[in-house]
Amino acid sequence: MNFNDTEIVASIMKNSGWEIVATPEEATAVLLNTCSVRENAESRVIRRLKQYNHKFKKLNKRYIIGIIGCMAERFNQHLVDLENSVNVVIGPDEYRRMPALLDQALSGNKAVAVELSTVETYDDIIPLRTEGISAWLSIMRGCNNFCSYCVVPYTRGRERSRPMQSLIEETRQLFHKGFREVTLLGQNVNSYKDEETGSTFDILISKIAEISPLLRVRFTTSHPRDMSDKLIQAIAQYPNICKHIHLPVQSGSNRILKKMNRRYTVEHYLSIIDKIKSTIPNSAITTDIIAGYPSETEEDHQQTLELLKQVRFSGAFMFKYSPREGTRAFDEPDDVPEETKIRRLNEIINLQNSISKELNQLEKGRVLEVLVEAPSKKKQQEWMGRSSSNKVVIFPNPQGIYKTGDYVDVLIKKSTSATLFGEVVEKK
Ligand code: SAH
Ligand code: SF4
Repeated sequence: MNFNDTEIVASIMKNSGWEIVATPEEATAVLLNTCSVRENAESRVIRRLKQYNHKFKKLNKRYIIGIIGCMAERFNQHLVDLENSVNVVIGPDEYRRMPALLDQALSGNKAVAVELSTVETYDDIIPLRTEGISAWLSIMRGCNNFCSYCVVPYTRGRERSRPMQSLIEETRQLFHKGFREVTLLGQNVNSYKDEETGSTFDILISKIAEISPLLRVRFTTSHPRDMSDKLIQAIAQYPNICKHIHLPVQSGSNRILKKMNRRYTVEHYLSIIDKIKSTIPNSAITTDIIAGYPSETEEDHQQTLELLKQVRFSGAFMFKYSPREGTRAFDEPDDVPEETKIRRLNEIINLQNSISKELNQLEKGRVLEVLVEAPSKKKQQEWMGRSSSNKVVIFPNPQGIYKTGDYVDVLIKKSTSATLFGEVVEKK
């Protein structure tokens, strides 16, 4: 989502005469787009700020440093008080004012803008996308769920959806420009609603998929509580809607889920998994897990491990609980000792990695359709692409026969927990 927001910001800035330069050394202003979901994301930004201050600002007093995104929203005026090097602080719903705020900073005044909006979707702004074949497309902004550990509803405000017709139009243009993959983004895409027609996410995604069978459609994230049967059916029905569903479960303990305000039980979650597996064979399901939520016992933790074994996710983002001021969980004692959190997180990671590895081994001998992306980082003769299930596939491409944006069928011969290796058997 921040990648896409950065493209929106770049577009707004370009329209008012600013340009992107290759390095911070050449810049008049540097903007850091920030995330507040966990403390270490914020600590990294503070370290970066100090670096920029030291490297650039000490040499050039007029150098502008701006903080944008969730951290701007969370820290507000405090950020300029706390870090003297910061000139501008701009929250996620104030990007239209960015050129004016930067002018203000250029004339020597600090600028802070953090008002949240109930309507802003940047609908009319075409993000300045860098070249490639994959595009991000934010279909909605904000979140109304208030999971008790999460800062997002406070930093990004209330849920609002972009109109369906303009999303379809933008995707059509992307396809004509050569993009072959679009990822529909929202904190909870299942609560998407087009104000004009009342259309829900399953309708939006179907209409986007109908633009061309050569356009792959991905989406993230779905909240398990709102995962509808209609959406599962749409994924099954359209071959170009990718067979990958990211469905964050967070914990395998009903007691913890309740405290997290996730509003589903493990049983309900498992019933959705069953539906997905039976309706969309060979689909990949991934998840997010938080280890060490306040009051988590060894038994709760074991239940999370059990759930991982039962579902057998293709992959997972796994985190240590990080207390966030202003959230409901922040009022609870952060009582799982740090070394216990780390140990539990490591157990989760080790188990998940072994499951991912086993699942990838099952791919050996299968033929997967791969969208060709780019040369692999390690060897120039080898290229990488992704399967519909979002697995990275590496294959030889010595004469450069296969080009970015081609679809090829790859016979899988080898695998690790993160990557599949194979040979092209057919170019489409
Ligand atoms: N809207 C998405 C993702 C939001 S943040 C969703 O609900 O799935 C991405 C992930 O960060 C969450 O799924 C959660 O696993 C993790 N996360 C959020 N707040 C956290 C916190 N305070 N500590 C640790 N992990 C957190
Ligand atoms: Fe945060 Fe929950 Fe909203 Fe996801 S659904 S952004 S975890 S509050």
